[in-house]
Amino acid sequence: MNKQNDERERVSSAGLFERAKTLMPGGVSSPVRAIQPYPFYTERAEGSRLKTVDGDDLIDCCCAYGPMILGHAHPAVRKAIAEQLEKGWLYGTPTPLEPAYARMITADHPGMQMIRFVSSGSEATMAAIRLARGFTGKTDIVKIEGGFHGAHDAVLVKAGSGATTMGVPDSAGIPADVVAHTRQVPYNDPEGLESILARNENIAAFILEPVLGNIGPVIPQDNYLREVRAITKAHDVLLIFDEVITGYRLGIGGAQVKYGIKPDITTLGKIIGGGLPVGAFGGRREIMELVAPQGPVYQAGTYSGNPLSLAAGMATIGWIHDHPDIYRHLDDRTRAIEESLGSDGKGSFVRLGSMFKYFFRSAPPQNYREVKECDTAAFGKFRERMLAAKIFIPPSQFETNFLSAAHTDSDIQTLIQAYQTCR
Ligand SMILES: *Cc1c(COP(=O)(O)O)cnc(C)c1O
Repeated sequence: MNKQNDERERVSSAGLFERAKTLMPGGVSSPVRAIQPYPFYTERAEGSRLKTVDGDDLIDCCCAYGPMILGHAHPAVRKAIAEQLEKGWLYGTPTPLEPAYARMITADHPGMQMIRFVSSGSEATMAAIRLARGFTGKTDIVKIEGGFHGAHDAVLVKAGSGATTMGVPDSAGIPADVVAHTRQVPYNDPEGLESILARNENIAAFILEPVLGNIGPVIPQDNYLREVRAITKAHDVLLIFDEVITGYRLGIGGAQVKYGIKPDITTLGKIIGGGLPVGAFGGRREIMELVAPQGPVYQAGTYSGNPLSLAAGMATIGWIHDHPDIYRHLDDRTRAIEESLGSDGKGSFVRLGSMFKYFFRSAPPQNYREVKECDTAAFGKFRERMLAAKIFIPPSQFETNFLSAAHTDSDIQTLIQAYQTCR
């Protein structure tokens, strides 16, 4: 490489991607980021904005796929990280942050009497499934078609998110006999769940995103979650709410408070790390007491309870506790977008609080099969036009869009105008 090429790589997204593709599979660290012909490279972020190496200033409606509910570089979170930084950032011992944060999160979630901190949402669901198997002594799990629970073997079956976009619902490299223990039911189909649980004795748990985020938002029909709770209870099957997206996104206490359902196990991630890597799982005390070292279900991690992540997370959740009206504001904003769109017959705008998306399908989808009917080519053109209008939405028809507390009235006006012209 001569000096001139080096310079071009440093300053342009196109150049950076050329180099990255030779060093990293697909040029990226996670598949959905591989926007074609090349992704923009972000140099810094603040509030509702991403600033790219190409000099663009974009309104961010991806919010890092969910965590950044207060917006980027929020002063309260930055301060908490800076203060923790002064004290060191990894000890391999317990820290005072853990019981403090554990108390905060369990108090907010009726389904969590005890909690274990881990380092990602994937790790949380992996451990939650093991725990359910350990508690029930049964081996199989049921998940939702199109439900995403991270990138590990047991749940990479019709998994939504990047997996759906890439058209590889199953990954290579997963033994068939592992996935044989994972069964699927459509979302919003309580009869389907009842029938699978009635036919199988060996089901340990039903895991679902209470609101489908990774192909959504797909919203639960009126009594769906209530029925899911009754059916799992009747069959002695643990109910795992994967609230990695919905936790503190739908409100304090996530979907379980919003819909008044108490799951047996809850997984969290994303927002509870304030933008730093984190995950957590928790549940009823008698279940959680099986986790090592208290019980026989092994789970461990070098970075678990990482002090920087917990400090950033606690600052975020603390800020939310001090400003609970954030949820009403966010809801008002997505409603304003919805009302400005009207029904145009082309697509459907679906929203729940600060989760929203324009589906290229005339009616809002109720499950994976209906989501797959969306016109992805039309979405692709829409996404490109939005980016040209300096608005970043996740580059997949299947990912939820998010707003943060940092989006301003003028951002919302810009978004409304962009929807009018880009659809
Ligand atoms: C993002 C996500 C995960 C995985 O979390 P990571 O931190 O990316 O491992 C699991 N479940 C749901 C519902 C998610 O949205």
